[in-house]
Amino acid sequence: MEVRILGAHSAEVKGMRMVSLLIDGILALDAGGLTSSLSLSEQQKVRAVLLTHHHFDHSRDLVTLGANGATFSSPVDIYALNQTLDVLNFCLLDGKMYADFSKWPSKDKPFLQLKVIEPLQPQNIQGYDVLPVPVQHTVPSVGFQVTSKDGKSLFYTGDTGPGLAACWQHISPQLLIIEVSGINEVQDFLKSVGHLSAELLKEELLQFRHIKGYLPRVLIIHIPPQFEREVKQEIKRIARELRIGIDIGYEGMKIIL
Ligand SMILES: [Zn+2]
Ligand SMILES: [Zn+2]
Repeated sequence: MEVRILGAHSAEVKGMRMVSLLIDGILALDAGGLTSSLSLSEQQKVRAVLLTHHHFDHSRDLVTLGANGATFSSPVDIYALNQTLDVLNFCLLDGKMYADFSKWPSKDKPFLQLKVIEPLQPQNIQGYDVLPVPVQHTVPSVGFQVTSKDGKSLFYTGDTGPGLAACWQHISPQLLIIEVSGINEVQDFLKSVGHLSAELLKEELLQFRHIKGYLPRVLIIHIPPQFEREVKQEIKRIARELRIGIDIGYEGMKIIL
């Protein structure tokens, strides 16, 4: 399994894009920096996008993906919770701001085919076993455990605050891709808006180790560009305290599982 980090941040500045990951060139997780990271021929190979939730920094490139859809040989499947699709239909794909590519060029054969996922209901998507697991955010959100045919497995939380013990019960990944969205100093605020600081992440990782008896490789994304230096230092500190390595994701990073 090849995992490409297309967007590793919660906002966009030159060289940093909003969150999006790509597995083996065909399965995307979130669409913050999807089309801005891929050539047209690479976009044509993307067969499905899994959305953790509807927030703009995770969904916005659906519009540009749809706009490029005329060059695709087959439509792209967009998998998300019912509540996520409702918001997308009402706001991002409303047909007013731009064309609604979930109904265009025709309702029967749109470029973007919206498909509902249910929490904790496993599905085979493009040959991968996908398990959506609820996480702690301000809007309905799931993380995804994606397992390849040869048994390689990752879990991507998307945006989440603390309180992941129930989530950990359901998963056993080799790679955990999780967020840190700000500095420790404002962790009460981060908690209130469904995000993690490095210190809050440490507690969640301790709980993972307690529940599962091991820690997977950990990769951090969704760091805000303006606080990147401080957040990286705080992550290094908790890695030392936990006696593990923690990787920090960046645009263009490739991981082979
Ligand atoms: Zn969010
Ligand atoms: Zn986000």
